[in-house]
Amino acid sequence: MPSIARPFRRIIELLDSHRFQQNPADPNWTRSDPVRWIPYIILHAGCLGLIWVGFSWTALLVAAFLYVVRMFAITGFYHRFFSHRTFRTSRFGQFIFAVWGNTAAQRGPLWWAAQHRKHHSHSDEPEDAHSPLQHGLYWSHFGWLTARSNMPTDLHLVPDLAKYPELVFLDRFDWIVPILLGGFLYGLGELLALTAPGLATNGWQMLVYGFFVSTVVLFHATCLVNSLAHTMGTRRFETKDDSRNNLFIAIVTMGEGWHNNHHRYPASARQGFYWWEIDVTYYLLKAMQRVGLVWDIKPVPLKVLEDAKERHRDKAVARAA
Ligand SMILES: [Zn+2]
Ligand SMILES: [Zn+2]
Repeated sequence: MPSIARPFRRIIELLDSHRFQQNPADPNWTRSDPVRWIPYIILHAGCLGLIWVGFSWTALLVAAFLYVVRMFAITGFYHRFFSHRTFRTSRFGQFIFAVWGNTAAQRGPLWWAAQHRKHHSHSDEPEDAHSPLQHGLYWSHFGWLTARSNMPTDLHLVPDLAKYPELVFLDRFDWIVPILLGGFLYGLGELLALTAPGLATNGWQMLVYGFFVSTVVLFHATCLVNSLAHTMGTRRFETKDDSRNNLFIAIVTMGEGWHNNHHRYPASARQGFYWWEIDVTYYLLKAMQRVGLVWDIKPVPLKVLEDAKERHRDKAVARAA
């Protein structure tokens, strides 16, 4: 009975991402899939709860705190550690980084890293799943996340991560950690309502602010790196793609806005190449290195910095002329 089996299979694919059936011959394979909209509709609809749960500074501060610590996990761990291996840590540290990144509800660490490695090897070429140049702004920001062709975790691209069963588990069942975070926040809110009524919060309010609103804002800020950091901003380096440096994106993503720098030299943990290129993720990683939580942070090679200086001089001369 294929008509019953098919929707059932699609739900299993949502619950166990490594059970995803690949079918590139399907004419809808590369198009937006309504089933894949479900998690995003739930996340955005949850924000409507703002209408009913009331306001408290406690809930707002928790939402802001969770935005910052999870943005750091996405940029510092999912991006600079799992995707580019720009520093080292212990196996236990790596697991904590994976769980921490997973709380952002941006799927598992292997899927994230594999997609990102593909982005770097085909930046702004037709194979780049989220190139605004190739597929338009909407698709690069969000649409690509709903195409069946972008759903499987390509384990061939992440053999260094796929050898750890604990990371594979998190990647397969990528919904467990975000749901645990939501449950924890609800419980925390209810506990505070009982023990500290002066804070004026409760379970539903904490869930809406701390989980739904914080996660949705975090999601769109991360997506800006795929959409706007390849369309708006300045280009210091003539990279083969259309990547840009953008101060606004660097602020909201804690350093990811120096995207043209990053495409010039993705092997460095540092993306802001100068002191005025604010890169909070890098500062936090340096602090973690100081207390021994991570080590071997890879710097930007002198040659790349000299190239950058030369381009500054050339531009200044051109302006003066
Ligand atoms: Zn890029
Ligand atoms: Zn990258």
